[in-house]
Amino acid sequence: MSYATVIVLAAAVAVQAPGGQPDWTAVQAEAVKTLQGYVRINTSNPPGDVTKAADFLAGVLQREGIGVKRFESGAGRVILLARLKGTGSGKAILLENHMDVVPTDPSRWSRDPFGAEIADGRMWGRGTMDMKGIGVAQLYSFIMLKRLNVPLARDVLLLFVPDEEVGGTLGAKWMREQHFDELDPEYVLDEGGFGSRDLFTPGKLVFGISVAEKKILWLRLRAEGVAGHGSQPIPQNPNDHLIRALGRLLNDPIPAARFRVVETMKTRVGALADNKFNNAIQTSTMSITSLRSGVGEPPKVNVIPSVAEALLDCRVLPGMTAQQWVAEVTRRVDDPSIRIDVTYESDDPVVTPDDTPFYRALESAVKRHHPDAIVTPMVVPYGTDANGFRPKGVKSYGFFPGIVPAASILSMHGDAEFIPTDALGPAIQILFEALRETAR
Ligand SMILES: [Zn+2]
Repeated sequence: MSYATVIVLAAAVAVQAPGGQPDWTAVQAEAVKTLQGYVRINTSNPPGDVTKAADFLAGVLQREGIGVKRFESGAGRVILLARLKGTGSGKAILLENHMDVVPTDPSRWSRDPFGAEIADGRMWGRGTMDMKGIGVAQLYSFIMLKRLNVPLARDVLLLFVPDEEVGGTLGAKWMREQHFDELDPEYVLDEGGFGSRDLFTPGKLVFGISVAEKKILWLRLRAEGVAGHGSQPIPQNPNDHLIRALGRLLNDPIPAARFRVVETMKTRVGALADNKFNNAIQTSTMSITSLRSGVGEPPKVNVIPSVAEALLDCRVLPGMTAQQWVAEVTRRVDDPSIRIDVTYESDDPVVTPDDTPFYRALESAVKRHHPDAIVTPMVVPYGTDANGFRPKGVKSYGFFPGIVPAASILSMHGDAEFIPTDALGPAIQILFEALRETAR
């Protein structure tokens, strides 16, 4: 038995002390240790093998006497499902999180991306925020329901999935398609929103609970022209056509339709701070992510190519269909030599209502701990596994009830990802209280 194991067991005993209130400080210390162990297991996707992480998490649950069901959707694609049984008078609440992380370029990191080093109250490493830290908060709120023998009317489920960072085909989606009967939840809670004192607007503590996502629409613009000698310019140069078309798109952004969730957010919070996150949740966006052209590798400088292509990652707020968006793009491109193809389109967004018992329980637990907080429904700029449950009528929220600085949110997928360690304890406690309230 290692020194670390002794500490974890000692903490577990302290938390289980009969009679008194749980020692939430000890719970946080335990969660921080578990998160360090979890972050140190490299689950970069690709390749996306999460076997070791799943073994590690199954071990934590089994030491609590919680049974774990294991599924395998592909090589190294392990899915864990743990269940706390309720009396069955309500449908389940499902806590969902992903074990895989995006790859890192260690040469760009000033710390070991899998070191889980703690400095100045922050734990650094890939996945600390997206989303191993959130997964560990879910894990401990779940464990505390078990340790404290909280009576449950509904089942509370905890699901760890692989594959989220590459679209979820062998993760959440596979589970929905192959084993929905094992889940069949009324509510899903996944990543998405969070609390922050500076991200939404400086000086106000805002907790955003995600109720919707934007529609993902990937477009390819392909300009076809005539190849020729670079010494003799021609009007059919596809590069010129593509560049002018992209210029028109950049100069004339497509406005978003009015969206109720954004309006509510602005009413509750006031003007949102100027940053890329807030910009992306208030408007539909378009990023030019690839430009491809030229003849030969490396491309010949003196050859006019016959084809040039651009890829556009568009994220469209609810209220506009793919067809309407493409029509707006086509009108701006205004060039018959350019073909516009939709290469991927996500489902039309479904908005989860915010007047449900679970939402209200999350909101009141937050306000009990932070009386000065503003709680608001929000839309998130990115996609999460939670969204796939919405078309099935599941009330799906994205929320980590901890307080994190803007730098932490903007660090996701970057080379300085961190989570403040003191965000974990309160998040676990708030989540525990909201689950106890909704599942009783
Ligand atoms: Zn994530």
